[in-house]
Amino acid sequence: MRTVEELVRKNIKSLKPYSSARDEFKGVATVFLDANENSYGSPVAEKFNRYPDPLQIDLKEKISTIKGVPAGNMFIGNGSDEAIDVLFRIFCEPGKDNVIICPPTYGMYEVSANINDVEVRKVNLTTDYQLNGEAILKAADANSKMLFICSPNNPTGNTINATEVEALVQHFDGIMVIDEAYINYSKQPSFISLLTKYPNVVILQTFSKAWGLAALRVGMAFAGGPIISYMNKVKPPYNVNLSSQQQAIQALENIEWVNNLIKETVSERSRLIEAIKPLTIVNKIYPSDANFILVKVVDAKGIYDYLAAKGIVVRDRSKVELCEGCLRITIGTPEENDVVIDALTNY
Ligand SMILES: *Cc1c(COP(=O)(O)O)cnc(C)c1O
Repeated sequence: MRTVEELVRKNIKSLKPYSSARDEFKGVATVFLDANENSYGSPVAEKFNRYPDPLQIDLKEKISTIKGVPAGNMFIGNGSDEAIDVLFRIFCEPGKDNVIICPPTYGMYEVSANINDVEVRKVNLTTDYQLNGEAILKAADANSKMLFICSPNNPTGNTINATEVEALVQHFDGIMVIDEAYINYSKQPSFISLLTKYPNVVILQTFSKAWGLAALRVGMAFAGGPIISYMNKVKPPYNVNLSSQQQAIQALENIEWVNNLIKETVSERSRLIEAIKPLTIVNKIYPSDANFILVKVVDAKGIYDYLAAKGIVVRDRSKVELCEGCLRITIGTPEENDVVIDALTNY
């Protein structure tokens, strides 16, 4: 198996990262005249006139107390989408390397690959939306640098079998990225525990879903020290703004509020499933460990348009391979779910 050092692009290995004004100063400063900021203050809030901490140390230490991952094994991005892009730029040589994704899955892996001119090899999930480990290893070659696994998977909602994931991490000769954007809604434990055993694993989580901060753009990546160092080297110096850092910390201090709403979402998920399961227009509801359900219906396009006309927007996944005829419905508030149930009942 190749080491992280062997997988990293040469230009990234030799890259001298941007050194910010504050990086270079080692003493105890009281007068900051090094970064051409406005010394007089900000019209909006205290400290907004200063550049934010490039390594988001306060936020990382707060996350560390909750996740049990040391701050040095964390990268914070402008959404997890930034972490995905940074990983492409670290490991994949444009026009030469490839990555493996397992459709149906999150669309950003392929978009990010295309932006970086990296070939995408698709190995579909099985019909029960699990990994086809054998086919994945067969599709891989010396230029396969990353494998993306999404668990719970978007748009199918199911968790990926942990035994199969661990079997694969031992045989895939590259970086294994496990996207856990929906982990807070799942009964299965996080794959974070793999990090202590495997230096080639990256776990992605986000403040955009259960934490209720999609607008602020704060994503997390957990990995071994070497991968995190490269991510910090490649990211834009001030990639997460101060307001987002402060408010993510505030969210972490309101963990009870978050946990209560996760419970409510999960219970509403069951209620929505039970309410629409008997409808003749519903062919199948896939089991979900996320805050959405994938529903196979008799006429996806017709039902999508019908809901849209009522001002209800869901995601039409009916043209996606293995999701034929399916709509993806996010779990709403009880009132919103009543509106959907009522509309579907009257279709
Ligand atoms: C929503 C989602 C994300 C979140 O991306 P952010 O950039 O952190 O908002 C990541 N992965 C998956 C699979 C998602 O569904």
